[in-house]
Amino acid sequence: MSLTQMGPVYSGRASAVRAGEVVLSLVASGLVGMRGWSGVRRLQHPYDRNLQLGLDRLAALCVRAGVGAPVGVQDLVAVWCAERPVDAWPVELDPDAQVGGERLLIGGEPSEFCLEWAVAARDVVSEVHESTLVKHVKDTACALGRPELYARWRKFVTEHAVLERGEFVAAKNAVLDVPQWATWVEESYGLVPAEAAVGGRVAVCGGCGQWIAPRADGRVRCRVWRCARRHDLPEPAWVEASGARRLEPELVRFVALPGRPELDLAQRLAARGARVVLYPKLDALDLVAVWPGGFSVGVDVKDWHSPYLLARRIKTFPVWGADDPHAYRRGFLVVPRDRLDANPRYLDILARNSAALKAQPHLKVVCDDELVGLCPDLRPAGEVVCGP
Ligand SMILES: [Zn+2]
Repeated sequence: MSLTQMGPVYSGRASAVRAGEVVLSLVASGLVGMRGWSGVRRLQHPYDRNLQLGLDRLAALCVRAGVGAPVGVQDLVAVWCAERPVDAWPVELDPDAQVGGERLLIGGEPSEFCLEWAVAARDVVSEVHESTLVKHVKDTACALGRPELYARWRKFVTEHAVLERGEFVAAKNAVLDVPQWATWVEESYGLVPAEAAVGGRVAVCGGCGQWIAPRADGRVRCRVWRCARRHDLPEPAWVEASGARRLEPELVRFVALPGRPELDLAQRLAARGARVVLYPKLDALDLVAVWPGGFSVGVDVKDWHSPYLLARRIKTFPVWGADDPHAYRRGFLVVPRDRLDANPRYLDILARNSAALKAQPHLKVVCDDELVGLCPDLRPAGEVVCGP
């Protein structure tokens, strides 16, 4: 068989898909990166540079496809991103990417689909979205020889969306022997801006525990995917906004919201008798749970809407010797159950697109309920801790 019959390694279609993914990633990260986002109608200069780059590339694809291109950033954002599903764009994407019906903006805000493509842009256009603060805390905790402080900081910000004045002071003084701790807390929380409050108070979602920015009409309803689809979402709690601080939006997106299913799972495993260590070795895994008697699991929780994008972000699980304080016997990648329920092809797409899963056949992908069911159920209850 000749080489031409076999086809080139990178077919025309593969490069078309890559071009499509670059456009989607650029536009998504441009939307997420717009500073002082005040909604589609009040879109102002300067635009995030990625929006312009995405627009240029999208326009080129439109020309090639013989369809009208967006006439400018305003048109791209207000019409293409807010009104048109991505499958109506003239870009070629892998069917496993499941873009059908997905819009980048919903209610004037970046959708979950958009947020994930923005994160994926790190791989595609090497645009770094990871918070510099997260990296700073990690590096400092490492340099201090106190990796447990990194875990403790993550746990704290995940569990506290809004701090009243007194709580903020107490939080800063929680680790007196490490002066950097106060700085981390200081930089994680900003004063509540006037537009985030309704009648002088800020709303905290009864579902995800995050602060909720009111809509233009003053209504307060959490937009987080998991909350938006719940019919039994508890009423929000209200905190006096004056003097209060709220978690920085970037940390909400990249630390607190993903951290919530991790902490929930940790609590469930501890309730069954495990000693659960969060984020061991500066986040080498999300948790390691060990039961009296020796049963142990190492777990990464991945709360992604798109299995196609998640597939690229699965890492190699660390292998630690039996004498290591965080040694575990079995590795699990846990996807929250509601993600699987919402997408019947989820596990198939994940398995088909993840090189890391193929390279680690011993790794099991399960939903949270399945993992809990596999683990012992012993008394007394264990605990959730941040270090060995
Ligand atoms: Zn919520």
